[in-house]
Amino acid sequence: MAKYILAIDQGTTSSRAMIIDENLNIVSSFQQEVANTFPHPGWVLMDGYEIWVSVEYVCIKAVEKARINIQDIAAIGITNQRETTIVWDKKTGLPVYDALVWQSRQSAGICEEISKKGYGPLIKETTGLTVDPYFSASKIRWILDNIEDGDERAKNGELLFGTVDSWLVYKLTKGKVHVTDVTNASRTMLMNLKTLDWDDKMLQIFNIDRSMLPKICDSSQIYGYTDLLGVQIPICSICGDQQSALFGQMCFDKGQCKNTYGTGCFLLFNAGNEPIYSKYDLITSVGWKIKDEVVYVLEGSVFVAGAAIQWLRDGLKVIDNAAQTETIAKGLSDSAGVYVVPAFTGLGAPYWSQNTRGAIFGLTRGTTTNHIIRATLESLAYQSYDVIEAMQKDTNTKITSLQVDGGASNNDYLMQFQADILQTEIARPSNFETTALGAAMLAGLSSGLFKDKKDLLSKKEIDKVYQPQLDKNTVNDLIEGWKKAINSVLMF
Ligand code: ADP
Repeated sequence: MAKYILAIDQGTTSSRAMIIDENLNIVSSFQQEVANTFPHPGWVLMDGYEIWVSVEYVCIKAVEKARINIQDIAAIGITNQRETTIVWDKKTGLPVYDALVWQSRQSAGICEEISKKGYGPLIKETTGLTVDPYFSASKIRWILDNIEDGDERAKNGELLFGTVDSWLVYKLTKGKVHVTDVTNASRTMLMNLKTLDWDDKMLQIFNIDRSMLPKICDSSQIYGYTDLLGVQIPICSICGDQQSALFGQMCFDKGQCKNTYGTGCFLLFNAGNEPIYSKYDLITSVGWKIKDEVVYVLEGSVFVAGAAIQWLRDGLKVIDNAAQTETIAKGLSDSAGVYVVPAFTGLGAPYWSQNTRGAIFGLTRGTTTNHIIRATLESLAYQSYDVIEAMQKDTNTKITSLQVDGGASNNDYLMQFQADILQTEIARPSNFETTALGAAMLAGLSSGLFKDKKDLLSKKEIDKVYQPQLDKNTVNDLIEGWKKAINSVLMF
């Protein structure tokens, strides 16, 4: 029986493909950069065709590197950058405009108009999302407004829309299959979170023709077949990158949560089988759908996390590399009451204050550079704590464990401190490639390589577990200090 999965991870800066075996080991991996262009302030574009060609290339290279028999590839799994919007011509199969990347802000005016008309609460209730150019709906509208006869061509059924997953499946199947999955659809601002179908009212608000849209499918099923590698291989999973990482971390149960510590932090919380609407403006989306099981998630992000460590290195020039912060932090008995709030670009959830800026608190004659370094590192944990606290309040659930990944999760001091202030166990997996792993696991489920989630759990390998060690009073004092610091920057 075929025993490998080809996982495609299409991101903003690169396309990657991995061959993953039945024990979830990575057999080979191949990556290629993809270009972003910035033709105007606030715009971020990619070439849709380049995205496709790069994926084709990395898949072939990953197979070549793995030196396996093509017949042994049981399935293809896809995970992708979310929200990025591509509109293409049905006849030619070619994009009619560059891909508008999730970060791209050219549709801000469209969102402002929609908010002014008072649609915000209805949109939030229907889609779980806050009106913002980040999501696909206003990006589709913008493309239709900015190509010749956009609306007319859409009405005539000449144009198709897809997020990156949808575009890749279309190309992989030579235009035979036009689908997306619930996780990607839940980031378009056009899907009704309860019916899991495109919502007529949302389509009307953004004036988008239903005929452009892909069919919404499960995250784990056979969507179609590709002969990309010369033999027919089924495409067996589609999942947005953050949700795929949550699945890859095996956060299958309500109350489980993952945090990716990269440039920013991405936190996703398994909220169970009903959508939960946040009081703190966290985003509600779909985590995955497998047959009858739908899992919803709450999502929050920290804007400046690893970026604060980069600031220590490149801005303050007090460290040579990120890993050094661990040794420095461990070399001190405490932070001597110093708090760093790295609100360089405002504060996200749960504070949502765009114009707030950063500050350092608690300085005395005894404060050294090392105290500031340690407090900066700790700010990653405090900011994550704030988001998790909001998630716990929203769901009335205490998190049972936090699964971590991303570059800064390598920092032992940071992980121990995070376990301490959350008073929760933290687990770091041996395999950091949780995003690709999630796609492979979902594909393995529908292709029959894996039996069920229990089967997957038996293959989980943990690198290290951190248990809380600090006593509760000390933790309360530390958190109280952080809250004071946050309140001060909010008032400034
Ligand atoms: P991204 O995917 O966002 O580029 P990565 O997951 O590669 O991020 O992580 C890189 C970020 O993590 C950088 O901002 C870096 O400063 C930070 N980082 C990497 N290693 C460490 C470490 N040992 N301690 C603290 N921060 C780290």
